[in-house]
Amino acid sequence: MISVQVVVVGGGPGGYAAAFLAADLGLSTALVDPEPNPGGVCVYRGCIPSKALLHVAKLVDEARHASDWGVDFGEPKIDLAKLRAFKDKVVKKNTSGTGQLVKYRKVQYLQGLAEIVDAHRLTLKLTDGKEEQLQFEHAILATGSLPAIPPTLKVNDPRVMDSTAALDLPDIPKSLLVVGGGYIGLELGTVYAELGSAVTVVEMTPGLLPGADRDLVDVLAKRITHTMKSVLLNTKVTQMKPESNGIRVSFEGEVDPKEQLFDRVLVAVGRQPNSKIPGLEKTQVQVDQRGFIMIDEQRRTHEPTIFAIGDVVGEPMLAHKASHEGRVAVEVIAGENVAFTPRAIPAVVFTDPELAWAGLTETQAAKENRKITIAKFPWGASGRAATLDRTDGLTKLILDPESERLLGVGLVGSGAGELIAEGVLAIEMGATATDLKLTIHPHPTLTETLMESAEVFFGQATHVYRPKRG
Ligand code: FAD
Ligand code: NAD
Repeated sequence: MISVQVVVVGGGPGGYAAAFLAADLGLSTALVDPEPNPGGVCVYRGCIPSKALLHVAKLVDEARHASDWGVDFGEPKIDLAKLRAFKDKVVKKNTSGTGQLVKYRKVQYLQGLAEIVDAHRLTLKLTDGKEEQLQFEHAILATGSLPAIPPTLKVNDPRVMDSTAALDLPDIPKSLLVVGGGYIGLELGTVYAELGSAVTVVEMTPGLLPGADRDLVDVLAKRITHTMKSVLLNTKVTQMKPESNGIRVSFEGEVDPKEQLFDRVLVAVGRQPNSKIPGLEKTQVQVDQRGFIMIDEQRRTHEPTIFAIGDVVGEPMLAHKASHEGRVAVEVIAGENVAFTPRAIPAVVFTDPELAWAGLTETQAAKENRKITIAKFPWGASGRAATLDRTDGLTKLILDPESERLLGVGLVGSGAGELIAEGVLAIEMGATATDLKLTIHPHPTLTETLMESAEVFFGQATHVYRPKRG
């Protein structure tokens, strides 16, 4: 029988961040996961491999455009085996790194699946075929999420892929249908489009990335018309039939023809919490109607010894949210009076251009009927954006009109994912438009667009003429 103070079930970015902090705080800790090293969905088949491929996609795009700047590299030749090897090497580097950190910290890493016996015990079905019993004072459930695929889109044919299969890059299909114009559909659609596939995106709602502010999405949507073959909005797939020469897809909505043939299909219509943990019913842990484990601000479930974090407890399903929740749960277990109450959780869609937002969005403010002031800086006025030949961008501040306090930041443009961090810090620190305006930003950088947006708020931006009204 293994006996620990803290056991973490699931070794994703939530689970391993929790286990590492627990060990750092001096608690005896075990981490259970079926993979050889910690990493979870994010590192093995999510954030990391997709961003490695997107890096290459961006390079291909820039190489193609370089002739506009006087350098002609010719048509890129893609060596798929080498590209796959690069992506796998990136994953391996990350997972062997987390494996090392497990050893340094003396976390007991148990490769296998956990089943719950009761509020203090687990049975571990280890990958080597053995079974172990584990006793714990506290457990943290961090079992993540899985692709959610409705029955009409479930087709038993390798040419119909989920994100994991698409990341394996089986080939570069001549034609690819991406079902779902969300994070995964647009990111992986971008990869395949840049590698040479004719990509069609089908999205059932009236716009891409539902939930994100439209002015930001519009900038991306405009560029996508050049990279993707077509984007079908307000359209649903009603049937998919495998045939010898492709997947025959029937559509319902604003599309003509209503039946089309594709070499491959990627289904990316959302993810569902992985809360069907064997034995969970033997505890007082409760699961809501959508399958998320219910928790309080301190990430406690209804069972006093069991905490839960990450994708399995709710949206946004993002790696950095999972890690922060994991650290809060551990601090609570260690006796600290803390809670998970961020003012802003950044979201980044790593398309080209990237989209990023944090804190209050304009869409959310409208829904809640909240009074806000918007200050926007178009990247057409940014010297740095011009040097990159990427003026397709926008920086937007969402401010409280009374206190001038920064409530939210929205960005679209090359590198928006890096820029958003300043916005998050400003929101968390309670910064005002004056704080941002008076903070000297380096020139020429895209970070200046945040400062100049604040200047726009006062009608005094150096590079745009927009006098304050009223
Ligand atoms: P996960 O990473 O899902 O890990 C859960 C782990 O628990 C898994 O290893 C699983 O095998 C294990 N497990 C499950 N059941 C058991 C059990 N009974 N016993 C033991 N172990 C178990 N997020 C971002 O923030 N940025 C990105 O760029 C990004 N890109 C993504 C790209 C793709 C293609 C996908 C699919 C997702 C992406 N995400 C991204 C989302 C991100 O991967 C998740 O939000 C994150 O992995 C959630 O972390 P987690 O710790 O909750 O769980
Ligand atoms: P998503 O929720 O981002 O997008 C799914 C899209 O599919 C939505 O736009 C939805 O309207 C559409 N849709 C649903 N059913 C449909 C149907 N039948 N036909 C056509 N369209 C349909 O989900 P996802 O792209 O699968 O990604 C899952 C989650 O993983 C994300 O929400 C995010 O939390 C996480 N993720 C994050 C990143 C990142 O941070 N960069 C990248 C990838 C994934």
